[in-house]
Amino acid sequence: MTRPTWQLAALLLAIPLLAIASASSAVAQESATAAERKVSVTIDDVPGVGIPTSERCDFDALARYAHELLAALTAHSVPAAGFVVEGNMCDEIPSERLGDLLGMWLEAGMELGNHTYSHPDLNRTSAALYKDDIVRGEGALRTALGQRNQPLRWFRYPQLHAGDDPAVKAEIETFLAERGYEIAPVTIDNQEYVFANLYAAAKEAGEEELMGRIVEAYLAHMREVFVFFEEYSVEVVGYEMPQVLLLHANALNADHLGKLLSMLEGRGYEFVSLQEALRDPAYALADGYVGPRGLSWLHRWALGKGMEIRMEPREDKYVRELQQR
Ligand SMILES: [Zn+2]
Repeated sequence: MTRPTWQLAALLLAIPLLAIASASSAVAQESATAAERKVSVTIDDVPGVGIPTSERCDFDALARYAHELLAALTAHSVPAAGFVVEGNMCDEIPSERLGDLLGMWLEAGMELGNHTYSHPDLNRTSAALYKDDIVRGEGALRTALGQRNQPLRWFRYPQLHAGDDPAVKAEIETFLAERGYEIAPVTIDNQEYVFANLYAAAKEAGEEELMGRIVEAYLAHMREVFVFFEEYSVEVVGYEMPQVLLLHANALNADHLGKLLSMLEGRGYEFVSLQEALRDPAYALADGYVGPRGLSWLHRWALGKGMEIRMEPREDKYVRELQQR
């Protein structure tokens, strides 16, 4: 019995395909077990965002959330950087209490940077007003750092909007450099804030079963996002460079950050400072994006290299539906 020609052709084609498939799965396995994965954890909107409504103007509640968040970071030896939005502090709390909250972060060995005073959107704000807001955001922050002989070094763009016009983008970058700032990029962008807002609402309503479901969905989403960016970093820069994760100082993380950090440890991550992550040469690549979107720096580098970008996973549909309740 002779094989029809098409079967032989299929067999011959299958051999190199199988060889390629087994080689690429070996590569995937190798990178999945790599112990040298590094991530810098950065936490925006300090002293707090995504807090149940009834606790937003309660200093003791804010201090308790900060304490829980810092305890989880400390327990997992995470040298995190927090980014302060002084205007997030409720007017009903005396302004000097902000210094107490910032002091908690610094005493726990964390770094603090500026995230503007009122979280303006650079796409909708003049460069002049945006610069004023940066300076206004330095008040209590500079004092808290100065009391501990630490410089004010880092700046994080609200919404990761870095300028939708080349002239504005360049103007703000020059202004930041002149004031001694380094821009804190983000590579692992994600939908954590969506889960955090849902969680805060469920906590406010005392819906414990729903809170548990949101936490599970949050952790599953973050795992998916990490898998995506681990592969994407290889596509864009050729290897898994140290990542910079964006999170927020919210009730969700205060209550459950330890679970996320354990998941990352399980993926082989070591937690490093922002400075250490940024030593990797990938961070010297050109940000090739001028536009309205708040993109991961991996997308910005991809665009700088003339590549097409591939977007990270969003939250599941049912999470979006919960949001619309
Ligand atoms: Zn923010």
